Amino acid sequence: HLELDNISAAYGKLRVLDGIDISVGSGETVGLIGPSGSGKSTILRVLTGLLKPEAGQVRVGGEPINFDKPAEIRRLRDRAAIVFQQYNLFQNLTVLENVMIAPTKVRGRKPRDVRPEAEHLLAKVGLADKINSYPDQLSGGQQQRVAIARGLCLKPEILLLDEVTAALDPELVSEVLDTIRGLAEDGMTMLIVSHEMGFIREISARVAFMADGKVVELGSPAQIFDAPEKERTRDFVGKIL
Ligand code: ATP
Ligand code: MG
Repeated sequence: HLELDNISAAYGKLRVLDGIDISVGSGETVGLIGPSGSGKSTILRVLTGLLKPEAGQVRVGGEPINFDKPAEIRRLRDRAAIVFQQYNLFQNLTVLENVMIAPTKVRGRKPRDVRPEAEHLLAKVGLADKINSYPDQLSGGQQQRVAIARGLCLKPEILLLDEVTAALDPELVSEVLDTIRGLAEDGMTMLIVSHEMGFIREISARVAFMADGKVVELGSPAQIFDAPEKERTRDFVGKIL
C-alpha cells in the first residue's frame, strides 16, 4: 500500500509537483495520465528516492519515509521497483544474468537462491526459451519484458512503470501490455504511466489525470474517460481518444 500525501517537489526553482495526493492499495493498479511535462515521471522519481520532496509525505505500508535518511531511501527502493521506457539492459550479460545481477550484486543474495526465481519470472514474461540469449538477439518487446522481469526479481511491493511501450514498434506493444495485464491479474500493486489510453482504461482500478504538477481529477476509468468532471480532463481525453 502506497500513499502520496500532499507531495510537492521542484527542480531548483521550478516547482513541478504541487500538492499531489495519490494512493495505490495493495494489489491495485492505478493509471497516471496527462500531458507531456505534467509531472508523471517526476512522481515516479520521488517514489524511487531520486528526488526529495519539498513537502508532503510518502508512506509505504503506512510507514512514512524520511528522505533525509539514506537507510529509509534504501528501504523505499527495496519496496518500489521501476521500469523505464529505455530498458537499459547490460549488453554483455545474458538475459538470465541481467535479471539476476541486482539481487545478487546489490542485495548480496546467493545466486543459487536467485536463479530459480529469475527463471520463473522469465517464464512468466514468456521468455523461458531466451534465458541464455544476449539482449541484442532479442526484439525490443522481448528486451522490455526482460526489464520487467528484472524489476520483479527484486520482489518489490509495488511496480512503477513509466511509458514502457513508448519506444517499441507498434507490433511489439501488445506483448508487453499482455505481460503487464498478467501481473495485474496476479495481484501486483502497480502505478502505471502510459499514453496507451485503451490499456490504461482497461487495466486500472483508478486513473489519475495530471496537469501542471497537480492531480486534476482522480476516479474510475469510466469517470475519467467517459464522464470527466473537470474541463481540463475533458479537454485532454477529448483530444487523445
Ligand atoms: P512526459 O509525458 O513528456 O514524459 P511527464 O509528465 O513525465 O512528461 P516530467 O518528466 O515529470 O513530465 O517533467 C515535469 C516537469 O519537470 C517538466 O516541466 C520538465 O521540463 C521538468 N523536468 C523534468 N526533469 C527535469 C530535470 N532533471 N531538471 C529540470 N527540470 C526537469
Ligand atoms: Mg515522463
